[in-house]
Amino acid sequence: MISPDRTVASATSTAASGAQVMADQSVGFQMSQNDVPLRVAVLGSTGSIGKNTLEVIAASDGRFEVHLLCGHRSIDVLVEQARIYRPRWVVVTDPKAAAAIGSGAFPEGTELVIGPERLEELLASPEVDRVVSAIVGAAGLRSTWSALAAGKTVALANKETLVTAGPLVTQLAARSGGVIVPVDSEHSAIHQALRSGRRHEVQRVVLTASGGPFRTHSKEQLCDVRPEEALQHPTWSMGPKITIDSATMMNKALEIIEARWLFDLQADQLGVVVHPQSIIHSFVEFVDGSVIAQLGPPDMKLPIQYALAYPERYDGPAQRLDFGVAQRLEFSPPDLERFPAVRLGYDVAARGGTAGVVLNAANEEAVQAFLDGVVKFQQIAELCERAVEEHPFLGDPTLEDILRLDVWARKEVQTWMC
Ligand code: NAD
Ligand code: MG
Repeated sequence: MISPDRTVASATSTAASGAQVMADQSVGFQMSQNDVPLRVAVLGSTGSIGKNTLEVIAASDGRFEVHLLCGHRSIDVLVEQARIYRPRWVVVTDPKAAAAIGSGAFPEGTELVIGPERLEELLASPEVDRVVSAIVGAAGLRSTWSALAAGKTVALANKETLVTAGPLVTQLAARSGGVIVPVDSEHSAIHQALRSGRRHEVQRVVLTASGGPFRTHSKEQLCDVRPEEALQHPTWSMGPKITIDSATMMNKALEIIEARWLFDLQADQLGVVVHPQSIIHSFVEFVDGSVIAQLGPPDMKLPIQYALAYPERYDGPAQRLDFGVAQRLEFSPPDLERFPAVRLGYDVAARGGTAGVVLNAANEEAVQAFLDGVVKFQQIAELCERAVEEHPFLGDPTLEDILRLDVWARKEVQTWMC
């Protein structure tokens, strides 16, 4: 029902999506004459965002269809998803996991494809109209890069792509005509709020944060936090890595950096406010003092649908706010003493260059070590800070520099943990 209009989907400046949203609100997609569904590649389909995406597509009344599913190791889930959605391709990125798949596991008409390189090729296919980038971690960078290089519209959940290589990624989109529409709920809210003003009218952008499960913990209590406790998020249901990031508030640090590059803002235009109810998903303050916010229950189906259908809106499966029920909305500044990751986020956003890739790689290693019981909760931010401080900083890195420093940071953090 909605078909891509490549001529209007191209980026208008090197600032990519941020400037684009402000400059032209008519960009995107128009209803097609012949009701052909848009063919969607769902990367990370076995994860939390991936599963929510499939629900959005199933309820899209034929606007979208699943053309490619991609998962790393959860073969049983992929087989079940293929049985339901009948994609053209199922990609398994881990060849070892793929070796266990028996012949006839997938339905007729579905081809099994193995490995990240083949995935990157398929994303350039003219058969793919939209890409949902929902692989977790820096592992999502290459596929997002390939999709954008091929001029695709990417619904971007994988914030790590922008944290590690933000300026290069937005410049790539500007060159190729690729478009990034954010899925992260805060950035979706900002994307929506920016549509009510012009670029030079923006004063600042404020990201809301739930504060995670330890919002009211003292510094002493934070020392004894166990992985099982950190994996219980009060408002959102998400994959394990982002759930730990929310508990340390490193997620907000990553989101500050994501917003910096996605919307081409200065670091001092970004702020964070703790809002435990997760109803207001972020807001934009304009120069006249008007504050435009986006509200909704904590349900990722809404930002996913917004990113897939942008600039259209339709009646979808996301939960609705009920103003007939008494609600309290609270706000407070983040405590940078107890949650030093937020300060690190501001710092890395201001530094730019290779600071983001190093922060992200160190964090991925430290989070895994915390989940494995190797380091304590508060060491996660300490390890990240040390990696950012000690790395050989480059202000204007190439993609090769970024990939090299990703490896460097992981190795360094591993040796510090021994
Ligand atoms: P998840 O852990 O639930 O799922 C991760 C997915 O990535 C799985 O499908 C897995 O198979 C795949 N994957 C893992 N390693 C891979 C690799 N090396 N190569 C290819 N695929 C790999 O994670 P999630 O919560 O769905 O989050 C996915 C992304 O979306 C993350 O970047 C996260 O920060 C972002 N995000 C998530 C939410 C949320 O509500 N879950 C909200 C905002 C942003
Ligand atoms: Mg978020």
